[in-house]
Amino acid sequence: MSSDIYGKDLYKILGVDENATQDEIKKAYRQLARKYHPDINKSKDAEEKFKEINLAYEILGDEQKRRRYDRGGLGGFGDIISEIFGRGFGGFGDIFGDFGFGDVFGRRRNYARPSRPEPQRGESIRYDLEITLDEAFSGTKKKLEIPRKEACTVCGGSGSKAGTKTINCPECNGTGQKRIVRKIAFGQMVNIVTCNKCHGSGEVVKDPCKTCKGTGLVEKIKHITVNIPKGAYTGLKLKMTGEGNAGLRGANPGHLYIIVYVKEHDLFIRDGYNIAIKMPLTYSQMVLGDEITVPTLDGETKLKIPKGTEYGKIFKIKGKGMPKISITIGNDYIEENARGDQFVQVYIVIPGNINKDQKEALKKLKELGL
Ligand SMILES: [Zn+2]
Ligand SMILES: [Zn+2]
Repeated sequence: MSSDIYGKDLYKILGVDENATQDEIKKAYRQLARKYHPDINKSKDAEEKFKEINLAYEILGDEQKRRRYDRGGLGGFGDIISEIFGRGFGGFGDIFGDFGFGDVFGRRRNYARPSRPEPQRGESIRYDLEITLDEAFSGTKKKLEIPRKEACTVCGGSGSKAGTKTINCPECNGTGQKRIVRKIAFGQMVNIVTCNKCHGSGEVVKDPCKTCKGTGLVEKIKHITVNIPKGAYTGLKLKMTGEGNAGLRGANPGHLYIIVYVKEHDLFIRDGYNIAIKMPLTYSQMVLGDEITVPTLDGETKLKIPKGTEYGKIFKIKGKGMPKISITIGNDYIEENARGDQFVQVYIVIPGNINKDQKEALKKLKELGL
């Protein structure tokens, strides 16, 4: 069977020239694959021929493999040869189905497909968490109640009543997939689809567990404590591995994604790692200069206002902004000591009510041309 393949010329198998372009190779493959597909061609050597065609295309259809073949022949392709020739009859149906005629057929993902697919991982859950700017500044721990699906403890997640077992899905004979054959102009086309009765698991419950109604899953509230790192920002995504919904019949659970949303603050405006604030000054403070007290996220600080400060001027207080965080692989956050800056913009407050003395003083100023 595959032993004599080593002596064959892949270009001859596809009937193309050694200088053939990828388009020509693809075209030749497409024609031959249709001709020799075991679902269409019932002659004795069709399957063997079909495997050769697939091998030739697998190698010549990939420029890198093709160069390797041009240099050293089939010697280094033992793994591909045994994969393709080791397959049983009918293992090619999905490749044909994958064609989607006129489509690019670079897809090889169905090679060596297991007879029954892996059970599907549980769904992931998204949880939107709102925190205050102060919490984002200092980091916080939050206790969350997450509604999620967990494996039914009565049936151990199997979905079957105690003492009974799941049976092979009658719809797909336990393969989890169904072949749909359609007649087309030059033969037929085979599509492989996920079985809608067992959702690809290949198993169905015969006597359903009463607690979970045969689904194997029950709704539970999970209490989870999550650490929100210092410097958290809106849109920050925290992944809690395996804390999502349980998978069907023992499959791995999904993940829990916590998306952080930082609420607006009454006083501070956040811009990345920086914080902005507006501070009211009096006319005399701006003209004469002063030292004022400015609130920051971690207490008050002094700011010197030089004489002759103009309306709208912005002062920078270094290192008084938000803590910076950097994300490492996975879900570990490094809290750096570095912080952004705080920017203070000054403006004038015009007092609505003034007392008699103030009024006298202002009149005097006016007389002096101020
Ligand atoms: Zn099925
Ligand atoms: Zn159950």
